[in-house]
Amino acid sequence: MFDTEAFPSDIDSILQRVDAIDPVGYARSRNFIDGAVTRLSPYISRGVISTRFVMQRMLEMGHRPYRMQKFLQELAWRDYFQQVAMARPELLDQDLRRPQPRGERRGIPIALAEGRTGIEGIDAAVQALLTTGYMHNHCRMYTASLACNLGRCHWRQPADWMYHHLLDADFASNACSWQWVSGAFSGKLYFADQANVNRYCHTGQRGSFLDRSYAELEEMEVPDLLRETIPFEATTVLPMTDPPHISSSRPVIIYNLYNLDPFWRKHDDAERVLLLEPSHFRKLPVGERTIGFILSLAANIPGIRVFTGEFDTLSSLAPGSTFHFREHPLFRHYRGVCDPREWMFPDITGYHPSFFSFWKKSERRLGLG
Ligand SMILES: Cc1cc2nc3c(=O)[nH]c(=O)nc-3n(C[C@H](O)[C@H](O)[C@H](O)COP(=O)(O)OP(=O)(O)OC[C@H]3O[C@@H](n4cnc5c(N)ncnc54)[C@H](O)[C@@H]3O)c2cc1C
Repeated sequence: MFDTEAFPSDIDSILQRVDAIDPVGYARSRNFIDGAVTRLSPYISRGVISTRFVMQRMLEMGHRPYRMQKFLQELAWRDYFQQVAMARPELLDQDLRRPQPRGERRGIPIALAEGRTGIEGIDAAVQALLTTGYMHNHCRMYTASLACNLGRCHWRQPADWMYHHLLDADFASNACSWQWVSGAFSGKLYFADQANVNRYCHTGQRGSFLDRSYAELEEMEVPDLLRETIPFEATTVLPMTDPPHISSSRPVIIYNLYNLDPFWRKHDDAERVLLLEPSHFRKLPVGERTIGFILSLAANIPGIRVFTGEFDTLSSLAPGSTFHFREHPLFRHYRGVCDPREWMFPDITGYHPSFFSFWKKSERRLGLG
């Protein structure tokens, strides 16, 4: 079960969390594990609220774009990665810019997956991931750097491992970030030394394998503690459901783990189905906690029914109905009426090779450029 106090699933609590954001103080402390981060990603990833909604709410609350620039920039990172995924859905199976420089090994270092690398700040973050389904962004970067750049594992399996445990599992943010840290989608590999981990995780550790200069870390052989790897394999346990009875005279609105927006088409007279496709979860397995979270978030949508099955089976149950769904690169096999997602800037689309070019355009829309 997920921690309902840390991540409540009712819509009122989620909206309260948005209103409680400190977008100005955010920039000062966001890199620290106890900084003023929002913990909104589980709701944005699950499509309950959008980046656009959060940005507009901050503007409505009177925050000026120039004062909350860093916060808006982080929201824009999400849209940027989503646009990359729209344009390059093969990113799960391909290194985007170049073959990962140090990706010769496969699997994930077992000590990392179990949170016992000996690096206190990172081990604590992994333990928290395994028990809560959340990890701070900086710790995600440390973890990916250990797996790929010191552990020399190709990013895909460690990324799948992290995705499996995250409540905010998002294939675009996850795959792009892992590729970015490991140098497959960036010009440089990301390294952090022990002093960096100590500073942002408030630890005071010395003498670890990270307690080296950056030049040494970049040349280092795989540390003994990261040598042993295991392949990441997992299955998703989906709820058993009966095929829903669907009136063929009504449209069907499809929700899935990437779209659980209770405000979308709220007033339509329609059948509402949360579709959990086994084929999707075979490709991108998530854990029991994430499934529980998805089902709880779906409870914000009145009249919704859960169906574990494929889109074709659902459509065969209602041959005369029109299906409505939201655009998403993982669900291009749906047939029917596709609604756009809520982007921060709907006219900034397509593949940008770097975040900088994407952000430049965003800045202009915000009157910052
Ligand atoms: C290796 C790695 C894997 C990641 N995997 C995922 C994932 O599966 N799902 C996921 O949602 N995010 C992922 N991220 C991005 C980021 O770590 C999380 O979105 C962020 O930590 C969520 O916490 P928060 O809501 O408290 O963020 P805040 O710091 O409060 O940021 C506010 C919002 O901005 C967006 N955001 C912030 N940082 C990033 C970022 N680096 N990239 C994209 N969007 C960002 C998110 O929507 C976030 O909710 C990953 C990052 C790394 C380095």
